[in-house]
Amino acid sequence: SVQPMPWVQGLQSYQPGKPLAALERELGIRDAIKLASNENPLGTSARVQEAISAACRSLGRYPEGAAPELRAALAAKHGVAEQQILFGNGSDEIITMLCRAFAGPGTEVIVSQYAFAAYAIAARSVGAELVQVAARDYGHDLDAMAARVGPSTRLIFLANPNNPTGTHFSSAELDAFLARVPAQVLVVLDEAYAQLMSAQDYPNGLERLPAHPNLLLTRTFSKAYGLAGLRLGYAVAHPELIALLERLRLPFNVNSLAQVAGCAALADSEHLQATLANNAVGLALLADGLQKFGLTILPAAGNFITFFTPGPAQPVYEALLRRGVIVRPLLPYGMPSHLRVSVGTPQENRRFLQTLGEVL
Ligand code: PMP
Repeated sequence: SVQPMPWVQGLQSYQPGKPLAALERELGIRDAIKLASNENPLGTSARVQEAISAACRSLGRYPEGAAPELRAALAAKHGVAEQQILFGNGSDEIITMLCRAFAGPGTEVIVSQYAFAAYAIAARSVGAELVQVAARDYGHDLDAMAARVGPSTRLIFLANPNNPTGTHFSSAELDAFLARVPAQVLVVLDEAYAQLMSAQDYPNGLERLPAHPNLLLTRTFSKAYGLAGLRLGYAVAHPELIALLERLRLPFNVNSLAQVAGCAALADSEHLQATLANNAVGLALLADGLQKFGLTILPAAGNFITFFTPGPAQPVYEALLRRGVIVRPLLPYGMPSHLRVSVGTPQENRRFLQTLGEVL
């Protein structure tokens, strides 16, 4: 029989939120709502949909791998050089590219306990050793992570805020951490939810780039920009680092529709503002509603809330499913007594709270 590399044998595949169509197929439920993948509840904007429709005419051609228009728009928006940006098929692809470039057998990749699952899969899939540093109050213990850096450490993944816990660290904590990490270790700062973050002390990774050649940011169009289905993410870092990663980028990794949609989404500030406004109201409503049920929530400042269930989470998750409400079970993260709920539309948020009330 065929022989995979030994580290591939033990891999656990990523378990995504249950799609609405799967619930319909499996349980025959049609009017379900999905608050399980931190997507944009307002969806893809009308302007973006129009841009995509127009671009459908040229799908017979390969996309331009470098995504020049999107690159120019994004560089201008962030005030960085065009050579500082790398696009990926979702930021997930960037995470795998980073591991291919910097990790492998005999090297260590450091993450926090409860960190976003894609880091572990990417690190282990290249044969690197994954070092999980115990969390502090469910969030990253940056002191312990910095202290754990050793001679074989190549990469550290930080998610701010972290998914699935929602916890975030402050500007001061990030700066202290960056000051401690040796220059030969690449620090990846995953800011998938940056636009949605409301916390005052939330650091902007972009401001830290000039002083730290070993820092790389990842961001995505999947959340605030509502393009999860098109798969578009990017990295921002020093040009030398980006040039290195460009060497292992698949030639046409970002498809034509994603490129066009990304440009249109960047230009549609109204949709972004509506998204942020909906999120602020929804986050407060969900936090309040969960606490009124007597449930403990983890601190949340993005577009999702992780909360303790009064016993094991799985029966609550399944009871919600049967009533057409999809949230995220966190068993794969070693959190058997928590569920994660994403902010939806006002109507979806109310339905979630009402259904949860019935289930509890
Ligand atoms: N990082 C974090 C912290 C996330 O929560 C997600 C989405 N689940 C991603 C990265 C990946 O996003 P995408 O691949 O859609 O850009």
